[in-house]
Amino acid sequence: MLPFELLNPTSFDEAIKLLSLDPDNSKPIAGGTALMLMMKSQIFTPTQVISLRNIKDGSYIRTETNGELKIGALTKLSDIENSVLIAGHAPVICQAMIKLSNVRVRNAATIGGALSHGDPHMDLPPILSCLSAVVRTISPKGKRTIPVDSLYLGYYETCLEPNELIYEVSLPASISPYSSYIKCTTRSADDWPALGVAVNLNVKANHIESSRIFMGSIADVPTRLVQLEERLTAKEPTPTLLALVADLVSEEIDPVSDHLGSAEYKRALAKVYVKRALLEAYNNGVNHAK
Ligand SMILES: Cc1cc2nc3c(=O)[nH]c(=O)nc-3n(C[C@H](O)[C@H](O)[C@H](O)COP(=O)(O)OP(=O)(O)OC[C@H]3O[C@@H](n4cnc5c(N)ncnc54)[C@H](O)[C@@H]3O)c2cc1C
Repeated sequence: MLPFELLNPTSFDEAIKLLSLDPDNSKPIAGGTALMLMMKSQIFTPTQVISLRNIKDGSYIRTETNGELKIGALTKLSDIENSVLIAGHAPVICQAMIKLSNVRVRNAATIGGALSHGDPHMDLPPILSCLSAVVRTISPKGKRTIPVDSLYLGYYETCLEPNELIYEVSLPASISPYSSYIKCTTRSADDWPALGVAVNLNVKANHIESSRIFMGSIADVPTRLVQLEERLTAKEPTPTLLALVADLVSEEIDPVSDHLGSAEYKRALAKVYVKRALLEAYNNGVNHAK
């Protein structure tokens, strides 16, 4: 790793000022679980590393009076995994966390880092896109709100400016209990996914009013399955219908081969895992209503 200067601001305002001094040669660091590996392999060679660890009040999980659930960007993934508030609001997040890498990584990694990294194999971007979550950012230009499903532009590429930081993640007040996330790994259960499917069904009067379905690890950004969503609209979510609709997923996707599997393999996985994710979402909703 090349030498660098480590700076320790205590507020987001101070951090973006430091990042703005030399944005092309600076990098923010949170948990460091991804950035350190990129620096060791000299993919990134910043001369200034701005640590976010000493920022006061950067880690919190709270519900607002309007019902929105807010998570500070510096909140550790293990705190999210164990949060009673998140388990009540969006249990799919806590359930997914158990298989998101190992406990050592989850004890260090933050939600801000997990969403900023831009590796298309990550678990949280399809899940939070599916739940219509947004990130709130700060830069010298001011604050802005970006839907998680608009954050990713390409392989390791986000729409964040070099001197822009995520300071908060926000989830809508009401999240349907008909939600699921399942991933297929080729080694241990907590490995990087060869394919991840996130489902959120909005069910009213036993019919699917709308849905959001995202797939990770098949392209350079999380992929929304719009045609699949349309096929579900206004239908009764019977196991037979969900299985029939899932069979058509390979018509909609164009997977890219990578170190976790060939395009053909991912296409075959997609049919099986979309079916499982839809059925799991349906069962989660039914069990929640009991
Ligand atoms: C062994 C191992 C296994 C893993 N397995 C999985 C897995 O199965 N599934 C999965 O999803 N992930 C997996 N990961 C990736 C892990 O989730 C990420 O490394 C982690 O989430 C990054 O968070 P961090 O806080 O450590 O980020 P850092 O490493 O500190 O930063 C990551 C990137 O985000 C930027 N950044 C950090 N915070 C902010 C912010 N607030 N605003 C703007 N930019 C910011 C940094 O500059 C850097 O570019 C694995 C990682 C390891 C090391």
